[in-house]
Amino acid sequence: MRGDLLKKELNIFTFNDLLNHFPNRHVDKTKVAFINEINFQTEYIQIAGKLISIEVVGEKRGKRLIACVQDKTGIIELVWFQGINWVKKYLVEGTTYLLFGKTSLFNGKPQMVHPEIEIFTNEKSEGKAFLEPIYPTTEKLKTKGLSGRQIAKLTYALLTQLQAKDIEENLPNEINNRLQLIPRYAAYKAVHFPSNSNEYEAAIKRLKFEELFIAQVRLNLIKLQRHSSSKGVVFEKVGELFNSFYNNHLPFQLTNAQKRVLKEIRIDTAKGHQMNRLLQGDVGSGKTIVALLSMLLAADNNYQSCLMAPTEILAQQHFQSLSNLVKEMNIEIRLLTGSTKTKERKEILQGLANDTIHFIVGTHAVIEETVQFKNLGLVIVDEQHRFGVAQRAALWKKAIIPPHILVMTATPIPRTLAMTAYGDLDYSVMDELPPGRQTITTVHRNEMQRYKVMEFIKTEIAKGRQAYIIYPLIEESEKLNYEDLMQGYEEVKSYFPEPKYLISMVHGKMPAEQKEINMQRFVSGNTQIMVSTTVIEVGVNVPNASVMVIESAEKFGLSQLHQLRGRVGRGSEKSFCILLTPGKISVEAKQRISVMCATNDGFKIAEKDLELRGPGDIEGTRQSGALNFKLANIVNDKPLLDLAKQEAEQLLQEDIDLNMAKNLQLKNFLQQQKGKTNWSKIS
Ligand code: ADP
Ligand code: MG
Repeated sequence: MRGDLLKKELNIFTFNDLLNHFPNRHVDKTKVAFINEINFQTEYIQIAGKLISIEVVGEKRGKRLIACVQDKTGIIELVWFQGINWVKKYLVEGTTYLLFGKTSLFNGKPQMVHPEIEIFTNEKSEGKAFLEPIYPTTEKLKTKGLSGRQIAKLTYALLTQLQAKDIEENLPNEINNRLQLIPRYAAYKAVHFPSNSNEYEAAIKRLKFEELFIAQVRLNLIKLQRHSSSKGVVFEKVGELFNSFYNNHLPFQLTNAQKRVLKEIRIDTAKGHQMNRLLQGDVGSGKTIVALLSMLLAADNNYQSCLMAPTEILAQQHFQSLSNLVKEMNIEIRLLTGSTKTKERKEILQGLANDTIHFIVGTHAVIEETVQFKNLGLVIVDEQHRFGVAQRAALWKKAIIPPHILVMTATPIPRTLAMTAYGDLDYSVMDELPPGRQTITTVHRNEMQRYKVMEFIKTEIAKGRQAYIIYPLIEESEKLNYEDLMQGYEEVKSYFPEPKYLISMVHGKMPAEQKEINMQRFVSGNTQIMVSTTVIEVGVNVPNASVMVIESAEKFGLSQLHQLRGRVGRGSEKSFCILLTPGKISVEAKQRISVMCATNDGFKIAEKDLELRGPGDIEGTRQSGALNFKLANIVNDKPLLDLAKQEAEQLLQEDIDLNMAKNLQLKNFLQQQKGKTNWSKIS
């Protein structure tokens, strides 16, 4: 019965799970406080007092049991919403009880909801100092008699029966000694029942390190094994196509970051092992040209390349800019999307199958079953977080030797997160923008200043620039989006009347063709204003646009705001981003907006985002099992994470098969754990 509840409520199935159900905190329960000590800061507290009243109040859902307990300093109210009959039977007026729980002040009066309660006996308050663990529990468990205190008893009983050999060491002793980590067995004991806070700190440090270290060893093993055993096509040479483009058609000088990444790709693809590389570059850092040069490298070695984009519009843009760049070269490049007409589609499939097409650009349409390549050597995925793992896996089947994979993303991921979530991929960063870019000025304006904002847009348009006005995408309701946008559109029209001004509008409900036409009108400069929901978020390139207005900016997350802002500042003109919000917004929204106003650096913003939201919510990492740490927190425990990574790399460098005697206990542990966790490869 209790076992069932533990499973259902807390996911505790085994003794091992119980051991790994860690306390939130410890309290010294030999301390009994007085009621008048309770203030706003009080959290958990222990009180002893006489029960002076008990009554059931309210009806149906509002029904609750209220009891009052008095000590010599005051009265505290106890409240139960569940288990009312059971508790009522147990409590007797006039008896002195020992209460433990979380207090709050309700209308200035101290209150404790669902306290742990037992009859007070003197010996209870006189035991020797002892830190009692407080475990996360649920109301349901509490009413069934499985309070945090009961869980503590179970865990205590379990620990007294376990011996050192039952909780085997898994880290090499050499590491434990060097880093002064306590043994695993001692750590488990002390994390639950420490005799003082130093002991607890030592235990927690040891267990967090273990968690991070084991994760790093696993990720690095996957990576190293791929490096040493996977097969990959070999791009032997830098040939005619690459060189002639580099020397004759490159429209600008590459940045050092672009050169460095190209070199990394070049080395990776020549080794005979499959490349699996994540390229992170801030918006506007120039990833497209790196993609193109890599594709030329593939073509020089007689391999086909495929560039996938998450949206039709983006695929179109890539196709146009790449076609333009290679137009004087002997390269056959085609576009394949969901809206490619049947006849053309047929032609393209044929061209891919008989190798007359060198580059294919498209949406996920390019990885459908029917698309077969003669000689696929390189796949580039732009804005990867929109592509599922399964979709990428489908690519594997397109060639006997899997093609090299380059995943490009403009949503910077903080380094700590990349290390944990993508630790099995090779990883390149382009942290340098092409020269001559002006920083975008970002400001926060409220509703009252709307008129001024619109006037500002007019002055920019008068200078020949263009502007975006973006409305939030409400995930739950397409209808709401549409209404919001339409209303906004009408309003914008009233500020910017035809024929002096022309406006494009794009939204999710629009047929792809219509979207394309409206987008194109803006791209070619026929319209001065683009009104849109966030469908244009990623990748669109209109260098003449100099103003980005984001409506209801408080509703956007940091990475989205950064993406949107990246749509301007792409030309040589000074650009502006205006974040419009109502006068009153939440503290969190204010924080996000002030981060945006303070910096243009995507990596800094990503770090802030991680800090504000925690790792679980960062886009693209949610499915990653690598983030399910029980104790460690990659934001707060960053130094420990760095240490774990360094130790893991060092260890594997010395002994990749973990065959040295000192690493055997680690090897055993990893083997036992295999299959228990869902460590899946990202790509
Ligand atoms: P992103 O990394 O956001 O995909 P793009 O590849 O779209 O960036 O490049 C943004 C703009 O910068 C494009 O107009 C591109 O032509 C230009 N660009 C890229 N690399 C350089 C460079 N080294 N020097 C000057 N301009 C560059
Ligand atoms: Mg791009």
